[in-house]
Amino acid sequence: MGYKIGVIKGDGIGPEIVTEAVKVLDHIALKYGHQFDYTKILMGGCSIDACGVPLTEEAITAAKASDAVLMGSIGGDAKTSPWYQLPPEKRPEAGLLGIRKALNLFANLRPANLYKELKEACPLRDDIIGDGFDMMIMRELTGGLYFGARKTEEIDGKMTAVDTLIYNEDEIRRIAIRAFDTAAKRRKKVTSVDKANVLDSSRLWRKIVEEVAKDYPDITLEHMLVDNAAMQIVKNPRQFDVILTENMFGDILSDEASMVTGSIGMLASASLNDSKFGLYEPSHGSAPDIAGQDIANPIATVLSASMMLRYSFDLDKEADAIDAAVKQVLTDGYRTGDIMSEGCTKVGCSRMGDLLVERIR
Ligand code: NAD
Repeated sequence: MGYKIGVIKGDGIGPEIVTEAVKVLDHIALKYGHQFDYTKILMGGCSIDACGVPLTEEAITAAKASDAVLMGSIGGDAKTSPWYQLPPEKRPEAGLLGIRKALNLFANLRPANLYKELKEACPLRDDIIGDGFDMMIMRELTGGLYFGARKTEEIDGKMTAVDTLIYNEDEIRRIAIRAFDTAAKRRKKVTSVDKANVLDSSRLWRKIVEEVAKDYPDITLEHMLVDNAAMQIVKNPRQFDVILTENMFGDILSDEASMVTGSIGMLASASLNDSKFGLYEPSHGSAPDIAGQDIANPIATVLSASMMLRYSFDLDKEADAIDAAVKQVLTDGYRTGDIMSEGCTKVGCSRMGDLLVERIR
């Protein structure tokens, strides 16, 4: 079958890691008889350099014309890059917020799983890790505090700032449905994280999540306060399957969960709308400190491409083949610098792509 893939290489290590993911996709196409047509889309710092803005209307149109978008990462070194002399709405990150909004990408999926081969990178004790853990954070991405009205003004002679945390029931319902659907394909548990002891938005969140849960009798639902969830992720990460939460809580908890795996270069992500369309990107940033040296770990981007096959194209067999190749390459002892340990063979970004291709059966 034929699929149109928008490709945002982005900044820093973005072009290197996306090149390896496309290498893997091309091999999948060859092996399984698909056709992937790629459209290059500019976004982030490279778009500022070429077009003066981090996201153009043409880029949005090209993304909308694609079946899915695969992205590297955007942004530069905030201390040295001229992009950060610009006002906030013209900086690289504004492109990312803009495309999420324009494409209505309200559901952000971030897996945080520990490969047994990378146990040494995990900062937790062996008895906590056990056989490893595998959680999926489902974060609401287009509502809440980051998109509510905000202002800073002088009131009674004091500078005063206000941010608004706003959710309506439809926004909560659609992300909750995504979480339950995802849990149905996994270990059938949803932990909904909120701050219902304090916030009205959380009390509404909890009410709507409970309504949605009635349609999923096979799935266990539990509620957890966000402060407790932050502790439980380090105390007992094995208890979690799908963690469902609002935008800001999800921002913080997904970073915490990724650090607990100890290997940010391994973590994929997907942002989905209510059709099959999604934007797929690694969880890490553009790593300007190592850009252009062929030492970045491409696995998070390759696993993002695997999520694209699974969630946007329903190509589960092909996605399984990529995931298995990643496991195999680790079992065979190959590592990029960020996940290197004693006794393993250190390889660069492009070589890692080749090794993955060789292991796709
Ligand atoms: P970062 O994730 O880019 O880098 C943090 C550290 O991890 C660095 O030491 C880096 O070398 C290392 N690292 C990250 N990815 C790696 C990989 N694949 N292989 C090997 N090492 C890797 O975070 P940062 O330094 O805080 O941010 C750099 C830039 O990225 C900033 O401009 C930031 O705004 C941007 N950023 C973009 C996204 C995105 O595009 N979605 C996400 C986060 C940060």
